Amino acid sequence: MAGPDFDLVVIGAGPGGYVAAARAAALGMKVACVEREERLGGVCLRVGCIPSKALLDSSELYAAARERLAEHGVGVGKVTLDLAALRARKDRVVAELTDGVRKLLERGGVEVVRGVGRLAGPASVEVSPGRGKKKAVLSGRAVLLATGSEPVDVGAFPADGKRIVTSTEALDFDAVPKRLGIVGGGYIGLELGSVWARLGSEVTVIEALPRVAATADGQVGRALERSLRKQGLSFRLKTRVVEAKASSRGVKAVLEDEGGKRETFSCDRLLVAVGRRPLTRGLGLGEAGIAPDPRTGRIPVDTSYRTRVPTVFAVGDLIDGPMLAHKASAEGVAAVEGLAGLPGEVSYDSIPSVIYTHPEAASVGLTEEQLKERGISYRSGTYPFGGNGRARCLGETEGFAKVLAHRASGRLLGVHIVGPRASDLIAEAVLAVELGVGAEALARTVHAHPTFPEVLMEAAAAAARSG
Ligand code: FAD
Ligand code: NAD
Repeated sequence: MAGPDFDLVVIGAGPGGYVAAARAAALGMKVACVEREERLGGVCLRVGCIPSKALLDSSELYAAARERLAEHGVGVGKVTLDLAALRARKDRVVAELTDGVRKLLERGGVEVVRGVGRLAGPASVEVSPGRGKKKAVLSGRAVLLATGSEPVDVGAFPADGKRIVTSTEALDFDAVPKRLGIVGGGYIGLELGSVWARLGSEVTVIEALPRVAATADGQVGRALERSLRKQGLSFRLKTRVVEAKASSRGVKAVLEDEGGKRETFSCDRLLVAVGRRPLTRGLGLGEAGIAPDPRTGRIPVDTSYRTRVPTVFAVGDLIDGPMLAHKASAEGVAAVEGLAGLPGEVSYDSIPSVIYTHPEAASVGLTEEQLKERGISYRSGTYPFGGNGRARCLGETEGFAKVLAHRASGRLLGVHIVGPRASDLIAEAVLAVELGVGAEALARTVHAHPTFPEVLMEAAAAAARSG
């Protein structure tokens, strides 16, 4: 009797699925990767990380040309914005990277199958390629679910994709909205709010909690909020949008504060960015005997990423943990290495997170609030970018680095940076946390001068010396 067609069938070609498929093929497995979209790379490459960072980088150059170059004695005449060109560039970046993923998989020998996949048995996947085309069943020894997530709607006013929109549409507005309302002051609200504010929108972020960037260290969140206010973004904290009606002219919304006081709010577009939920609909989980967690909607897995069905695995936004691309990829690699009998694992204590605003906010490990909640005795040291020579040369002196270390052992427990190039600076802190380095050792490591990472060295020295 013939065996299964593949060693591994992956559903979803995002950072979880495509990285797992490539690694599995490199380990000698026969792999199929099923993806419903023409472009590979998932939310991250198509409508997430990459297009948003392309817009952030372009809009940051525009803002710098308008507001910061003169300080350096550089005159550029009248600075103009060609939104069509900016969007076209973003689309080119996405096209190049998604094409790159296809080439990577094809070169690695992964069979890419276009269509909607669903579990059809403990290790087989039914693929529906679209109307008029015949369904196929791919049999495997194992199946990896990596279908990612989708935006959460606010029940009272579902997104219509025109006036009330999700991040996908807000990455591609064909004109700069005069007034942009944003529900949610998390990653998407702050990043896309920054993009459109830099390009000229009057941006109001409406956030239910008392602070924006709620998962960040409190000191970092407050510094980021102050900075974004200076850039012209408005924040309505402890406030919810309870109603919103779209018309051809714009959106009329009703805001309600903590005390129940209501007021009307008008904008041209309303971006709903209140989180994402795992995309498990239509995957055939029920029939397979896999039940998502009723509270979070995430698929329960063990430390090998195995679901209740021993031949079915799941990674990325579908399972517990931060919804981040690098976390999904690390899990994809660990899952297939485990399948191949290798000791694949992910260090969840040292997964970095970055908010790509200006200044950027980047962090790894525990926040000061988490240390207090857990009753962990710690030392803290901060150092401002204002005291850093390189930051002065560039004229980027806003922000600080904060190092939190275990009081007795000095081991790094958390590093939080708000400031220029924080997204790059955090890499050194990630390695330090991962390797169990102490604040003293980081402080004594010689850093080139003048460079931004000296800020981290000084914050580590402050933590090591603190009483
Ligand atoms: P996804 O990337 O969602 O990929 C899942 C894939 O499965 C998709 O291609 C989908 O089409 C496909 N699929 C779904 N169902 C089926 C099916 N039944 N059959 C076949 N195919 C299917 N994270 C970061 O780390 N850094 C960032 O800067 C960042 N920026 C972001 C910006 C925005 C606007 C958004 C929305 C998200 C951002 N994220 C960022 C989050 C990041 O995109 C996700 O964490 C990451 O994409 C999750 O990877 P994944 O592989 O689990 O799922
Ligand atoms: P988020 O969880 O980051 O933020 C959502 C915010 O909305 C929270 O602060 C929450 O308190 C608020 N909120 C929820 N309901 C509300 C309501 N009814 N009224 C007002 N505020 C409300 O979610 P997001 O910004 O939608 O992003 C989704 C996920 O995508 C993120 O959690 C992150 O995992 C990922 N992402 C990552 C990056 C990055 O890594 N730079 C960028 C974008 C998105």
